[in-house]
Amino acid sequence: MSKQYDAIIIGAGHNGLACAGYLARDNKKVLVLEANNFIGGMAATREFAPGFHASVAHTLPQGQSALISDLSLKKHGFELAAKNLDTTALDGEGNAITFNGKSVKGVDANDQKSYGEYQSLLKKFAKVLKPTWNKRAPRIGGGEIKDMITFAKFGWDVRTLGRDTMREFTRMIFLPAQDMMDEHFDNPLLKAGLSWDYNVGNILAPRSPNNAVLNQLLKLSGDVSGHGGLPLPKGGMGSFVNALANSAKTSGTEIRLNTRVKRVVIENHVAVGVELEDGEIIHAKRIISNADPKTSFLKLLGAANLEIQFTNRINRLRTEGLVAKVHLALNALPNFKGMTKPEGRMILAPSMQYIENAYDQSKYRSYAEDLPMEVVIPTLHDKTLAAEGKHVLSATIQYAPRDVEGGWDKHRDSFMKNVIATLEKFAPGIGDCIEASELLTPADLEQQFNVEGGHWHHGEFAIDSWWMNRPTYGASQSKTPVSGFYLCGAGSHPGGGIMGAAGANAARAIIAEDK
Ligand SMILES: Cc1cc2nc3c(=O)[nH]c(=O)nc-3n(C[C@H](O)[C@H](O)[C@H](O)COP(=O)(O)OP(=O)(O)OC[C@H]3O[C@@H](n4cnc5c(N)ncnc54)[C@H](O)[C@@H]3O)c2cc1C
Repeated sequence: MSKQYDAIIIGAGHNGLACAGYLARDNKKVLVLEANNFIGGMAATREFAPGFHASVAHTLPQGQSALISDLSLKKHGFELAAKNLDTTALDGEGNAITFNGKSVKGVDANDQKSYGEYQSLLKKFAKVLKPTWNKRAPRIGGGEIKDMITFAKFGWDVRTLGRDTMREFTRMIFLPAQDMMDEHFDNPLLKAGLSWDYNVGNILAPRSPNNAVLNQLLKLSGDVSGHGGLPLPKGGMGSFVNALANSAKTSGTEIRLNTRVKRVVIENHVAVGVELEDGEIIHAKRIISNADPKTSFLKLLGAANLEIQFTNRINRLRTEGLVAKVHLALNALPNFKGMTKPEGRMILAPSMQYIENAYDQSKYRSYAEDLPMEVVIPTLHDKTLAAEGKHVLSATIQYAPRDVEGGWDKHRDSFMKNVIATLEKFAPGIGDCIEASELLTPADLEQQFNVEGGHWHHGEFAIDSWWMNRPTYGASQSKTPVSGFYLCGAGSHPGGGIMGAAGANAARAIIAEDK
């Protein structure tokens, strides 16, 4: 009989580590098993070329100050390189619009005024959802008083927005980004820049109905740099992950790398342990999966242990990633047209139509020549990522379908050619600064980070898969239909992005069960 743990966590992504930290703080004996030889999943900082470092997730808009203080992450090494980056939308012709929180530069007086009104409206909407992210989702029809109180409180928060704002909330939550932008602004560049966060990470573009506003509100959930702030961690997102791991280890958590879980061991319909790839079996009172829902249920647990209707819903989760990541190792700082210094986050997209055109290609399993992207040069704030005088360019690129026609081996070079050609339009001469590069397509993310489809949220973040339906009913509240088996990754409530809330919510659910 192997050593008995209170909990085994499958995966050392940032959510698995956050879950471990909270459980260990509650004196639980926790073992984290990670398939890769590094911790952090898509939040890890890795050396992508000799002397150059980057993380897939680069900014921390969803950072939660409560988690940072609960787990003493600053004491464990977490630091910011920049507290709140500006966002600049560029059109490649030398025009630039910069916004941050309540301020916007480069637009006319009408758009200035609308921008202020728009931000205060979003802030009110975000406030309504804020209490839901870091709390157990209520269960529909469960009859528990606690859940009824949560629903009632949510209804009350919506009602107390005031009649007009409440009506706008119930209307706008279903609007496409395009309508939201057209209703408020005239300037096409401002609309393109602002609409980026509505869609990135999901199977969405400006004209896609539903979900976009919800996606934006999730991105506004963080409070590390205030409402809508864009913090940049020092050392890449890996510093956040290392601090989470150090915090959990200080409270007694064990972490094993290069340890892939093959299956969850079930006895009498209860999860009692895991079997590793080498056949070793380890027992624990609870098994918690940081893997995505499809992997967790269909591969680790097995459809034989689930009801067919539930399995069908999991099978139908939309997990095809559409976002690629490119890291460039640069021997000089590129000049972006319209900017004196590329210090903030840049959105390279002249209009929403430009973004929509790129999305259209992805529907046919292809990709555009002109690729919309979000670019950050973290080395302007952080000297730990590359040698003096060298720079890292970190680009989040839409749209790169997981299942590109003919497979990515056939398309890597041509996609990368389009990336560089697009960058050249915005930063002429950048090609001459490139020493090395890394392309991570959704297929690469799936293979290297063990995420089904390489999806940002481990499965679409949408109205049908939100709150008490995340990833689907029957598996919300971090619990699953199999007793002793829990979810703690981005596929569970509240969703993806670096915030640690899914991990913290799972830990809270377990701690509450033991009370
Ligand atoms: C291109 C791209 C850019 C992004 N940029 C940002 C950004 O700038 N800011 C932001 O906030 N978010 C960003 N995100 C989203 C963010 O990276 C994810 O939502 C987040 O990493 C999910 O964290 P997680 O801990 O739930 O899962 P993951 O980070 O996916 O970690 C899961 C872990 O489980 C492990 N695992 C899986 N199966 C097994 C197994 N069988 N045995 C053992 N271990 C296993 C994996 O190896 C992995 O380490 C981005 C996502 C993508 C795809």
